[in-house]
Amino acid sequence: MEKNHANYRDVNENPCNMCMPMGGILAFKGLEQSMVILHGSQGCATYMRRHMAEHFNEPIDVASSSLNEKGTVYGGEKNLKQGMDNVIKAYRPGVIGILTTCLAETIGEDIDRISQEYLREKGYGDLPVVTVNSPGYGGTHTEGYWLTLRRIVAQLARPTEAHARINVIIPNLSPADIREMKRILQLMQVDYILLPDYSDTLDRPYQKPYHKMPEGGTKLADIAAMGGAAATIQFGLTVDESMSPGHCLASEFGVPLYNLPVPMGIENTDMFINLLVKLTGNPLPACLEQERGRLLDCMIDSHKYNARGRSVIFGEPDNIYGVAKICLENGIYPVVVATGSKNPKLVKLLEEKLAHSPLRCTVLTETDFTTIRKQSRGKANIAIGSSEGRFLTEKEGIPLVRYGFPIHDRTGGQRLLSVGYAGTTMFLDRITNTLLEHKHNHYRKSMYEMFYLNNQPVEEFFLESSGEQHDVLMQSEPRH
Ligand code: SF4
Repeated sequence: MEKNHANYRDVNENPCNMCMPMGGILAFKGLEQSMVILHGSQGCATYMRRHMAEHFNEPIDVASSSLNEKGTVYGGEKNLKQGMDNVIKAYRPGVIGILTTCLAETIGEDIDRISQEYLREKGYGDLPVVTVNSPGYGGTHTEGYWLTLRRIVAQLARPTEAHARINVIIPNLSPADIREMKRILQLMQVDYILLPDYSDTLDRPYQKPYHKMPEGGTKLADIAAMGGAAATIQFGLTVDESMSPGHCLASEFGVPLYNLPVPMGIENTDMFINLLVKLTGNPLPACLEQERGRLLDCMIDSHKYNARGRSVIFGEPDNIYGVAKICLENGIYPVVVATGSKNPKLVKLLEEKLAHSPLRCTVLTETDFTTIRKQSRGKANIAIGSSEGRFLTEKEGIPLVRYGFPIHDRTGGQRLLSVGYAGTTMFLDRITNTLLEHKHNHYRKSMYEMFYLNNQPVEEFFLESSGEQHDVLMQSEPRH
């Protein structure tokens, strides 16, 4: 759709994403005994450590090559080699991940050559090092996450004899969600290799004495074996092939790829479970069937409240697609769906699903929170996304259900469960209760009340109050 130039700003104000290496760190934290070095200035590492420490409530160790003015002019080779030396001495890692930042990429640092040269010079030939070019301006943290997974697979998977295990590759989920995925796989008696697995490394049990390198993470031997797996299930419907680890395993080793939506909501979770039944030949266990029944029961219990919900959803593409599916299944019609990523696949997927919604929805990509707020004003009565959307509550009075990454103004972001039948049930309760609480707190006082009490049909109200169209990439037309 053509841009409205009268309102076009060529800047982002408070973008709806974080920068590329942040996602790369997250992916590396899901490998066993891994340590990350950011090749760049100290500030980049500090910003990312802080965000992750507040979300996961864990100490987050990320090394920095600490580039300064001198390194910027004469090159950062010495700094990176010194950094690798310090990391090996202090942590004795099983694998090192090296991510570039804006500065290192802008001055054209060759991290492959530098790291390989260092390993040769020091005689560490056996130590695996995975390099990722990830300037902040190269994409969002989502692209950084997926590109890093692809680089991990491309550099560590080996030609292997065929075996019956199934690769499971997940997007940026909470540690609690990863544990739920593993529980479902175990219930279905699937022999799996899950990548990445930071369910323990970023949410470890209290332990004394403290260990610098947490236990857990995907084993390097398992990653090496991914090339011989019977299949890959990747929860990355919106991921571009150039960043898709599943696509890499399919093209390099011929592993069949099944790309699925994140199992959030009834339909998406059914797709996951049905695929497991098909691939393994194992029946659906009774407890999962009961959990599905309880989710249906929860949907029935709460539908009379949720039918009034109008949502603004924001975050990472695959995650918000899952949230949008939950909303659509429960009558909480999305009026704004937004991501900081540039993602045509997401737009297409949403276009198909929103075609059945009775309300017009604005889909924003590469967007910021100023635009999201403007588009949500007077239309949405519930927001679903990370803590970065708290201004929707503070400035627009739209209550926020916290989901995704980062959650830094509440505790327990790492324990939020939202996937599978059981996780969807808990997530739906969080949404419904937020709508109820907001209704009770604003009874006869707010815009929200107008939706309920002025006898104006909700659809007409939205049509009349639809604001300017700004950076709108797709709209589904209202249907009556
Ligand atoms: S955007 Fe660039 S400079 Fe800023 S934190 Fe990210 S990598 Fe560092």
